[in-house]
Amino acid sequence: MWGSLREELRTTFRGHPLTRILLTHGHTDHVGMLYELTEEIAVPITAHEIELPFLTGERSYTTLREGSKNKDIPPFAKNKLEPLNLKGDYGGLIPYPTPGHSLGHVAYYHPEDRILLAGDLFTAFFGKLRKPIHKFTANMEESLQSGAIVERLQPELTACSHCGVVKEASLQYRNLVKDRSLA
Ligand SMILES: [Zn+2]
Repeated sequence: MWGSLREELRTTFRGHPLTRILLTHGHTDHVGMLYELTEEIAVPITAHEIELPFLTGERSYTTLREGSKNKDIPPFAKNKLEPLNLKGDYGGLIPYPTPGHSLGHVAYYHPEDRILLAGDLFTAFFGKLRKPIHKFTANMEESLQSGAIVERLQPELTACSHCGVVKEASLQYRNLVKDRSLA
């Protein structure tokens, strides 16, 4: 995916250089392109400090134990990583801790456009709000509680990494929590 993003940076984002990578969390499907990207462009990779040991390979998403080795991804060098400032404003994106899917999962809200970058806090299915993928979610109850952020912030659009955008997610959130099925 780095090839197509590199092209977007040269065209669509011309004049707006990439200065930082903000991660919602460090699962393998969210970091894959960063090895090549950070070789070409020296930008820090920023994630909640809880996620950093997973990214350096010191902790495993499978066992969640401290001191367990993460063999899911090649480790990132510590000097490429920066802890997220939870009181920070990253170019208009405000970080909100939303633990549950992973221990240090973060969503980013852009109040000006009312867009929530939700990562894996939810999934989207043809515009419908769905729970995160059960198999890869550390604590589903906690993740669903974190999902209440859509009631608090009332985003117009909630962008889910898998697989798309949900309009006015707050209108669907209560029913999602009541649904006791896994998916
Ligand atoms: Zn994930």
